[in-house]
Amino acid sequence: MLVTSEEYAAYYRRVKSRLEKGCEGEGLNGTYPEPCVHCDVCVWFKQCDTGRRADDHLSLVAGITKLQRKQLVEWQFDNVAKLAEMPIPLKERSLHGSRDGMKRVREQVHELLPVAIGMDARAGVDCLVRH
Ligand code: SF4
Repeated sequence: MLVTSEEYAAYYRRVKSRLEKGCEGEGLNGTYPEPCVHCDVCVWFKQCDTGRRADDHLSLVAGITKLQRKQLVEWQFDNVAKLAEMPIPLKERSLHGSRDGMKRVREQVHELLPVAIGMDARAGVDCLVRH
């Protein structure tokens, strides 16, 4: 079956229109470069990694899971510095990730902060993250 140039042009306009609508409003603003298995080979890694570090993103904590990060964001501990100050024992039951797991990632960040004496807070937290 051959496609006429008019049909192809109509298809092109439809795809273009949907793409433009997808990029409006929350389209791109509602996204974040969440780390995934493709990051290691992605040409955009440097930009995404730089952005995550600038945001002090929870994914920088070694071994933290996506479920733990989701719970921490819901609890308003949405970056590494805030996680380091999260009160223990936890005040609420964790709906995403185990209580012990949440405590472990918090302790991982919090307990090593004294190692950073003489460093600024940011450098201290950087000691705790991967890479
Ligand atoms: S590095 Fe690539 S795969 Fe990873 S979040 Fe960024 S754009 Fe996506």
